[in-house]
Amino acid sequence: MFGYDKINKRDLCLIAVVFLTAAGLLFFRRLSAEKGTFATVEQDGRQIAQLSLAEEGTYVFVCREGGTHVIRVQDGLVRVEEADCPDQICVRQSWIGQEGETAVCLPHRILVRVQKESG
Ligand SMILES: [Zn+2]
Repeated sequence: MFGYDKINKRDLCLIAVVFLTAAGLLFFRRLSAEKGTFATVEQDGRQIAQLSLAEEGTYVFVCREGGTHVIRVQDGLVRVEEADCPDQICVRQSWIGQEGETAVCLPHRILVRVQKESG
């Protein structure tokens, strides 16, 4: 096994370089993640609305089962601001804005998905 005393200065230097590279990659990935331009709202897999992330606004969706979702768009991000589902998981997912990010409400079968216009 590797004892701590076996790590010499060169190893430490190497470890530091590896760590910095990993941190840099993470940072780069964050920067290169595509920002979404619109969000779709789906219920039971069917799209019921498409919201532009460029326009600030609050949208209220009432499901067949009587569930209500208040969806807020602000600063290019979207979130489920209020919902009357029992688990509140969709509300706790908070702001999303990168392409492919989703906020899901299982009890009401609502899916908010951030997407990017092609071209
Ligand atoms: Zn919910």
